[in-house]
Amino acid sequence: MAERKVRVRFAPSPTGALHIGGVRTALYNYLFARQHGGDLIFRIEDTDSNRFVPGAEEYIIESFKWLGIQFDEGVSFGGDHGPYRQSERRDIYKKYVRQLLDAGKAYIAFDTPAELEAKRAEIPNFQYDAHTRGMMRNSLTLPQEEVDRLIAEGQQYVVRFKIEPDEDVHVNDLIRGDVVINSSILDDKVLYKSADELPTYHLANIVDDHLMEVTHVIRGEEWLPSAPLHVLLYRAFGWADTMPAFAHLPLLLKPDGKGKLSKRDGDRLGFPVFPLEWHDPKTGEVSRGFREEGYLPEAVLNFLALLGWNPGNDQELMTLDEMVHLFDIHRCSKAGARFDYVKGIWFNHEYILKMSDERVAEMFMPVLKEHGIDAPMDKVVTVVGMMKGRVNFVKELWDTCKFFFVAPTEYDPKTVQKRWKPDSAEMMTRLADLLESLDDFSLENQERVVMKWIEDNGLHTGNIMNAFRLTLVGEGKGPHMFDISSVLGKEETIARMRRAIEVLK
Ligand code: GLU
Repeated sequence: MAERKVRVRFAPSPTGALHIGGVRTALYNYLFARQHGGDLIFRIEDTDSNRFVPGAEEYIIESFKWLGIQFDEGVSFGGDHGPYRQSERRDIYKKYVRQLLDAGKAYIAFDTPAELEAKRAEIPNFQYDAHTRGMMRNSLTLPQEEVDRLIAEGQQYVVRFKIEPDEDVHVNDLIRGDVVINSSILDDKVLYKSADELPTYHLANIVDDHLMEVTHVIRGEEWLPSAPLHVLLYRAFGWADTMPAFAHLPLLLKPDGKGKLSKRDGDRLGFPVFPLEWHDPKTGEVSRGFREEGYLPEAVLNFLALLGWNPGNDQELMTLDEMVHLFDIHRCSKAGARFDYVKGIWFNHEYILKMSDERVAEMFMPVLKEHGIDAPMDKVVTVVGMMKGRVNFVKELWDTCKFFFVAPTEYDPKTVQKRWKPDSAEMMTRLADLLESLDDFSLENQERVVMKWIEDNGLHTGNIMNAFRLTLVGEGKGPHMFDISSVLGKEETIARMRRAIEVLK
């Protein structure tokens, strides 16, 4: 068989916000497609109208735009295998349902919900399968005329997949190896419902993967139980030769304890599980998003890439291009990956450090504006360059740097008590006079002159610098003193010193 071009897909159902686990699935598909020079398809699986949530599709598209994950074809991207929204493919599915019925691989069932309920009550662990289908109302038990009559009368029915019992079904998973399941544990899955003239997820998924020429199905572990059914469906259609390879990704686990990561963990521990803020149209509930919390998209992708995969050495920071080269689907773990959100914060810190001061300054500008500060760009760039190593998020720069933009109006009592000595007012007056006399207010010149003054007069460097800091910052924190004074400039430095002396003397 000729090598087929790699084609993978991300196929979410628009049932709400995109969970961060879904983002990781999309990322792995993206990396896999890119490294094989293949295509990444974006398909919307919206055949379950009960679970449809308005706005979800747009939300998912916007999320990937923000993250920088690009699709080659699909909903909103175009392509020649469309339509890519399953609700627009009804007629296609009907044809394939017909094909299975004609081949005797599926059958029509009329059992009402009440009848099914009664059977469940009557038979413990009831399952619609080879052992029970003979007792039910379906096209295998009813005469053909009766089936035709019921349909003509407009009775609702479903089409069920006729699963042959007692067969070992092998799913060859790229991550989990050979997974074997006996067909007897599977039930005759509903493939189609006359009520809404739509297929169920299973049929639509298989038909679309086939028609869209998907070569690899990389998806969340929760779909592993469906895989044997999918294998049987491919065979029933006669598509076994072009059946995609499967890879079921490890679960994302709670940051603490056991079990699957949920939105509640995020609410409890204070981290997002959605890429963007999500406004639930039904409940009105607002859930936090990585974007709104101030995460950089590159940091989020890097963090997610390592949840369930690693490059085989201890490299942690990597660009998307590097990930494309390093990614190896066979190196994905089977065991669940703990969602260590603290590590996610660390990634954000590292990406702020790596980012140019100009770009960080651009992101900081709106924060300054919010606080009513209109500072020149070059000052913001300098401040950011000095201070960005101290924060995990751009918004935290405000608390860390605000003294560069607003003069202190109060002086931290603890620091005053510890740092403001009986002679501090006099010393600061002399220092202010000295600084005022400087024509060259550069960092280097201030440092040279002040240090010489301290030495010549036998002063205590610590005492001078601590008091100096208090006058400019209002407390005991901040970077190197002459970094601060040179950014503030001569006029502002002297003004702050004189005001502090007034207040504290
Ligand atoms: N529509 C499924 C979901 O919502 C996709 C499963 C698959 O990738 O086959 O997750």
